[in-house]
Amino acid sequence: MQNPMAIDPFALAQALSGVHLIDGELRAAASGRTFDVVNPATGEVVARAAYGEAADVDAAVRAAKAAQPAWARRRARERGALVVECGRRLAEHVEELGRLVALETGKALRTESRVEAGVLADIFLYYGGLGSELKGETIPFNPDMLTMTLREPLGVVGAIIPWNVPMLLMALKVAPALVAGNTVVVKSAEEAPLACLRAVQIMSEVLPKGVLNILSGYGPECGAPLTAHPDVRKVSFTGSVETGKIIATAAAQRLVPATLELGGKSPMIVCADADLGRAIDGAIVGMRFTRQGQSCTAASRMFVHEQVFEPFIEGVTARVNAMKMGDPLDEATDIGTIISPGQFQKVRDYIALAGAAPGAKAYACSRLPEDPRLAKGLFVQPHVFTGIPNDHRVCREEIFGPVTCVMAWRDFDAVIEQANDTEFGLSATIWTRDLRHALNATQRLQAGFVQVNQNLVVQSMLSYGGVKNSGLGKEASLEAMLEHFTTKKTVIINMT
Ligand code: ADP
Repeated sequence: MQNPMAIDPFALAQALSGVHLIDGELRAAASGRTFDVVNPATGEVVARAAYGEAADVDAAVRAAKAAQPAWARRRARERGALVVECGRRLAEHVEELGRLVALETGKALRTESRVEAGVLADIFLYYGGLGSELKGETIPFNPDMLTMTLREPLGVVGAIIPWNVPMLLMALKVAPALVAGNTVVVKSAEEAPLACLRAVQIMSEVLPKGVLNILSGYGPECGAPLTAHPDVRKVSFTGSVETGKIIATAAAQRLVPATLELGGKSPMIVCADADLGRAIDGAIVGMRFTRQGQSCTAASRMFVHEQVFEPFIEGVTARVNAMKMGDPLDEATDIGTIISPGQFQKVRDYIALAGAAPGAKAYACSRLPEDPRLAKGLFVQPHVFTGIPNDHRVCREEIFGPVTCVMAWRDFDAVIEQANDTEFGLSATIWTRDLRHALNATQRLQAGFVQVNQNLVVQSMLSYGGVKNSGLGKEASLEAMLEHFTTKKTVIINMT
């Protein structure tokens, strides 16, 4: 285990400056260009990342393509064992990876960033054990013809990831893709390239060269050429709905499959008979207040029965008030910063819009930090709003900030209808002791992930993904590996 006191994330960030990892080596961008990586808690530039463009994409895809046949020829258990070893090494570097991701994203180390680094390692450990599960079937087609299916890899996978939980979302793509015999080129998010690069560097000590490559760069210059590259046989994307549509269109042009994990506006329904304490805990986790609400599964619309509305609001606001906003690298901090000036402005605009809605009541919770070192930090107080109707823009559009709207309800059928009245369908929760309400809601809620009386985050072995505009396809789980990172070949052997 690493000694936390000996880790200096600022020095690490400098050491990771200016490079991609292609074909097992750290390499500058072909153009030599770089871009700033900023600490959102202070506004300071902490590193410069390699500015990936088409030439870098081409080099990385060529390396991945060259490495793929030999990787796929290894025994599946052997690939799995190497992926498990990646997980072990990542687990030894949790402190370092947690600090790096806290530095570049502004997510608090104790409540978020260290947790993410632990989950990263866990996803590799989980998938590494699944090598032998890449099974086909035998089919009773004709007694004279032995008929079966074989699971084969797709080839080179392009993985495009966002900044909110960059390492975890990278792991959900890379680990199953590798176990299934694919090779991968990752395009990290422009706001958060460092922790992912370091994680890939750690794994490259274990994996054959070219099997896993990572590029940093902007969407149009680096992500688009990756999606369009003729040797990329699968695209796996997590990000916004708008970019998801661009990527799906580009993939369709080449008839390449795309998995899309997009946005959400997830409902949380609290019934009058719910265990209120548990529901309040669930609201804090569900809203991802410790991640400044920057989560596609954030419970950003809460429907609370009118009989428990007031105590619910009191409980949630008291809990958020007790949280400490501050330096993401400080162990005492619960809530860090928003990722970028653009998002910061967008979230503040939504808060202003919500506050101006007729009948709206705003609860601004916690306190902005007073430390002068953080004066330029992108801190936004978490806001709980009441009195805003479900058809208002702040209840319809994904804010990706610490803002939740709480609405009162009386009629169960009507609240299910309201919960479903959204373009999204990623996650939903219901809080009740009444079995009929619980069963009814789990069947009727339009979402890919529904929970009763709890609000767990993504688990490696559980299929995860949305319906409607929340995306296409699933991530995590054995099924996701089989469905999205392999193709089935049908084989018929005539025995006569
Ligand atoms: P966000 O608003 O959360 O940053 P985006 O969907 O814009 O979400 O970005 C998610 C990822 O998609 C990032 O890595 C980004 O660089 C990448 N990206 C953005 N535009 C494109 C594009 N046209 N083609 C491919 N990737 C893109």
